[in-house]
Amino acid sequence: MGMRDKHCASRAAGGLINPVTGRWMVKSWRIDDLLPLAEKTYRAIEKTLGISVYHTLPLRRYCLNADDIKRLGRRLRNPRYADVLGPFYGAGESASPMRDEHGSFLIKGAAYLDVPRLLDSLQKHFKCIDEPFVHEQLTSCKGGWNYRGIDAKKVFFCEGAAISQNPWLHHLPIHSIKGETLLLDGPKSLLPRGIYHHQKWILSYGDGRCRMGSTYDETDLSPEPTEKGAQVLMASLRHSIDASFQIVEHKAGLRPTTPDTRPIIGSIPGTENLYVLNGLSSKGASTAPHMCQALIRHVFHEEPLDPEMDCRRFITAVADGQ
Ligand SMILES: Cc1cc2nc3c(=O)[nH]c(=O)nc-3n(C[C@H](O)[C@H](O)[C@H](O)COP(=O)(O)OP(=O)(O)OC[C@H]3O[C@@H](n4cnc5c(N)ncnc54)[C@H](O)[C@@H]3O)c2cc1C
Repeated sequence: MGMRDKHCASRAAGGLINPVTGRWMVKSWRIDDLLPLAEKTYRAIEKTLGISVYHTLPLRRYCLNADDIKRLGRRLRNPRYADVLGPFYGAGESASPMRDEHGSFLIKGAAYLDVPRLLDSLQKHFKCIDEPFVHEQLTSCKGGWNYRGIDAKKVFFCEGAAISQNPWLHHLPIHSIKGETLLLDGPKSLLPRGIYHHQKWILSYGDGRCRMGSTYDETDLSPEPTEKGAQVLMASLRHSIDASFQIVEHKAGLRPTTPDTRPIIGSIPGTENLYVLNGLSSKGASTAPHMCQALIRHVFHEEPLDPEMDCRRFITAVADGQ
C-alpha cells in the first residue's frame, strides 16, 4: 500500500540513468553491476505488464571549461571508462543547438525510465491501496503483523523522505534534498530525442517537449515547486540554448539521502519481520532494482547483506551513541 503522492520524489524525477556523473565525471557508484540488472529488471516488468518504460538514449555532455576538458582527457585514457565514454568533439563540432564553447562527448549506456508510468502500472497490477499508512495501527500478531484487518507475515517500509514519520526508523540519518524539474515546450525539431547535459540536464522527448532538471536545496523542505526553483532552471536553460521554451509543468520532490550517499536496506534491529529500503538519493532509477534484489535474497534466502548498504551501519552507531 502507499499513496499516489504527486510530491513523492519518484514522480518529480527525471528518471535518468547516467553511468558517468558529477563535476568529476566519474563512474557512478557500482554502475557496472547496477546497470545490467536495472535494464534486465525493467525489461522483465515491461514484458509482464505490456508497457514500455525503459528507453536507452544517446547522452551528450558538454564541457563547461578548460578543467572539464582536462578531466575528460584523463578519463578517456583510463581503460575502465572505455565502455561508457565516446570520443571528444571539439567546440562546435557536435552539430547541436546547445552552447558549445569547450567541446562535448557522448556517454554510453544512458537511459531514461518513465517512472510515473511504471508506478501507475505497478500500482494497478498489484491493486495497491491508495491511502495514508498509519504506523500506530500496525500491530504484531502470531509471528507477523496486522494492519486494519490485513494480516502480513512481513512488512517492508519504502517511504522515501517520509521515513522521518516512521516510529521504528525516524532516528536513521536520512535527510531530504529538495529537487525541482520543469516540463517545457519548445521548437519541434530543435533537439532530437536524447539527453543533453550542459549546466543542467535536458531530456528531449523529440517532439518539442523536454524535461529539465534539477535543483538541489537542503533548506526549503516544503513539497511544493517554487518560483525560485523555476527561475534557477530557466536561467540555466537560457545559458545553455538560444531558443524559446514555455513551462508546461513544474514538479518538486524530496530526495531521501544518507550521509554516505549509499542506500539503506535490511531488517530493522530489535524488531521481527520489519524491513526497510530507503536512501536511494538522486539515483533511484539505477539503484532500486539491485537494492530490491539484495533485500529479497536476504529476507527469503538468508543471503548476507553488503555492509555498505546494510541499515545496521547506522542503527548500530545510534545504539552505541556514536
Ligand atoms: C527533482 C528530482 C529529480 C530526480 N531525478 C532523478 C533522475 O533523473 N534519476 C534518478 O535515478 N533519480 C532521480 N531522482 C531521485 C529519485 O527520485 C529517488 O531516488 C527515488 O524516487 C526515491 O524513491 P523512493 O520510493 O525511496 O521515495 P519516493 O519516490 O518519495 O516514494 C515514497 C512513497 O511512499 C509513500 N509514503 C510515504 N509515507 C507514506 C504513508 N505514511 N502512507 C502512505 N504512503 C506513504 C509516498 O506517498 C511515496 O509514494 C530525482 C529526485 C528529484 C526530487
